[in-house]
Parts: sequence; C-alpha cells; structure tokens
Amino acid sequence: MLNIVLFGPPGAGKGTQSAKLIEKYQLVHLSTGDIFRANIKGGTELGVLAKSYIDKGQLVPDEVTIGMLASEVNKATDPKGFIFDGFPRTSAQAAALDELLQSKGTSIHMMLALEVEEEELRKRLLIRGKDSGRADDQDPVVIQKRIDVYNAETMPVKDYYSAQNKYKGIQGIGEIDHIFAALCAEIDQA
Ligand code: ADP
Repeated sequence: MLNIVLFGPPGAGKGTQSAKLIEKYQLVHLSTGDIFRANIKGGTELGVLAKSYIDKGQLVPDEVTIGMLASEVNKATDPKGFIFDGFPRTSAQAAALDELLQSKGTSIHMMLALEVEEEELRKRLLIRGKDSGRADDQDPVVIQKRIDVYNAETMPVKDYYSAQNKYKGIQGIGEIDHIFAALCAEIDQA
C-alpha cells in the first residue's frame, strides 16, 4: 500500500492536487473537509455538529474526527492506498492515524506538504469563496481564524512526521501541473 498525508494550510491546493494524485496512483481519497460538508448537506447529526465548528473556523473535536476517519478507512475494500487530505490536523489525530494503520499492518509512507505563504492563502480563499459558496471562505474573520488555528494546532503535525523522516515540503505556488510534477517526483522516488 501507498499511504500519503497531503498537508498544507487552508487554500494551499490540497483538494486540487489530491484529485490528480488519486487518478494517477489509484488511491482512495479521504478528505475530512469533504466528508464533513457531505454530512452537512445530508443534514446528518454529524453534519449539524461539524457545522457549528466549521462556521467559526474552529477544528471539529478530535474524537469525532478520528472516529469518522477510522470508519471511512475501514469501509475501503482492498485499497491500493490512501491520500489523507485535511487529516491529521492535530498531533492527537496523527498518533491515532498511526495506530489505526498499524492495526491494519501498514503505515504512512510520507507527508507531502504544500508550502504557501499567508498573504497568498488569504487571496485564494476569498476568490474560492466567491464561486464555491463555502461560507467559511467568504468571511475574512473566519479565514484568519483558520490560518491561526493551522499555525497553532496543525503545524506541530509537521514535526510529528519530520521526526519520522517522512516530511517532504513542496512549493505550492506556481502552475498546477508543475506542482503536480513535483509531488509525483517525490512519490516515484520513494
Ligand atoms: P481548508 O480549505 O480550510 O483546508 P477543509 O475542507 O480541509 O478546508 O476543512 C474545512 C473545515 O472542516 C476546517 O476548517 C475544520 O473546521 C473542519 N475539519 C476538516 N478536517 C478536520 C480535521 N482533521 N480535524 C478537525 N476539523 C477538521
């Protein structure tokens, strides 16, 4: 199996690159943000709970997110591997993911991190908010909160994978295909 954590701040391009990577490598794409949004749309209990955090730019609590992610991993039948997009976002989630994969006899092979500076993120998210209809992309206060939460709670996840020698940083500004080629180069040489 090939298991990749695609990492980066809100607006770094994780969704765009995931779509290209799953096609090329035939991996299962698990985006916690997409799963939460599907639940919000479907009006599920999980969706109602998640919305109360997402609308404020806060993280959904670890126990909820970890439980949901584990059930999605367990649903996959004979996967070639996973791309985890938007997960793990806290050190507790990273430790839970290691445990889950270990119980399945596998592990994370690498963290590919899209590096984009804050000013560019703010610009991209506001543009996305105009056509995606995502409420959390339309309010500059919520956007700033997400960037702050990323710096405070999610950045430590980088150290978690660096300590395992799995961290690979990739410049996330430039042509989409150029960034994609850089990601593929890291995967192919692993
Ligand atoms: P972004 O564009 O901000 O990276 P995502 O689509 O990945 O957005 O996530 C949207 C929101 O869903 C986050 O701001 C957060 O509230 C919630 N969320 C997504 N993934 C997680 C996670 N792993 N842990 C906690 N909350 C999460």
